[in-house]
Amino acid sequence: MTLNVFDKPGAKVRLDDIPAEPPKGMTREKAAKRFAALEKELFELQDAMFGAKVNSVLVVLQGRDSAGKDGAIKHVVGCLNPRGVIVTSFGVPTPEERQHDFLWRVHRHAPRAGEFSIFNRSHYEDVLVVRVHGLAPPAVWSERFGHIRDFEELLTEHGTIVLKYFLHISKKEQEERLLEREESPATAWKLNPGDWKEREHWDDYTAAYEDAISKTAAKHAPWTVVPANAKWYRNLVIAESIVEALRKRRKDWDETLVAMGKAGREGLEAYRAQRAASAKERKAKPAPPRRTR
Ligand code: ATP
Repeated sequence: MTLNVFDKPGAKVRLDDIPAEPPKGMTREKAAKRFAALEKELFELQDAMFGAKVNSVLVVLQGRDSAGKDGAIKHVVGCLNPRGVIVTSFGVPTPEERQHDFLWRVHRHAPRAGEFSIFNRSHYEDVLVVRVHGLAPPAVWSERFGHIRDFEELLTEHGTIVLKYFLHISKKEQEERLLEREESPATAWKLNPGDWKEREHWDDYTAAYEDAISKTAAKHAPWTVVPANAKWYRNLVIAESIVEALRKRRKDWDETLVAMGKAGREGLEAYRAQRAASAKERKAKPAPPRRTR
């Protein structure tokens, strides 16, 4: 499968040139089969990472309203053991969050060693919505690209595998999804006039996303533009990309687990040997004389 990966700083990103539809020849059936295999591998990879505690994963999900961030989370998390997964959503900053730098609320949700952390929106909102709506002057938000690069580099140096996804839907698809929400009580609770208002800024968001992807693309923190018009293909691309990234570390984790197992076994042997020695010692000692009345 060919993924639209951006991992070089300053990469040229033209979202309009990237299809939002699945490639020709890909069918829902083929995707389901492949997804099932990936699901199994992802579960095993997460288990190895959780035990080894050498690395962690940060998945950043960005996309326009109705692009499918929640659906992607549901499907990716469905492949994982919930024990090591944390999902964090970033909405409009609270008054307290506003009193800190923009990374303050984000950094404390970075994963601990062994954990899998998923961000539903993220620090990128501070160079997207903030830019589009002029919530901060250009001199402020444009400085943030550098802070984001440093932040993600810091996480990587700490062992975090940073993977960023832009869920790419077409304008038409978004309209259909928003209208569809009105049809059923099961989805009508999501209705928000703000989604329609944001749509009016479609081109501004496109420019902001292209810039953000280009300026923060890095080998250690790649962006993948996910064709997201078809939900089943979106889920497949994300799973494939995560598995690809984690698979490269599997050997390290397995070696760490073997070393941990060896240390554990040695510890256990030493404990048993010591127990046996004390039992022998107790047996060899003559019994104390019985007290007579
Ligand atoms: P979603 O659209 O992600 O499903 P939602 O509609 O349920 O979410 P919330 O999760 O409450 O809404 O908040 C998301 C909103 O918060 C988005 O409109 C987003 O642009 C906004 N937001 C997130 N981060 C920031 C930020 N740093 N500054 C301003 N607005 C932000």
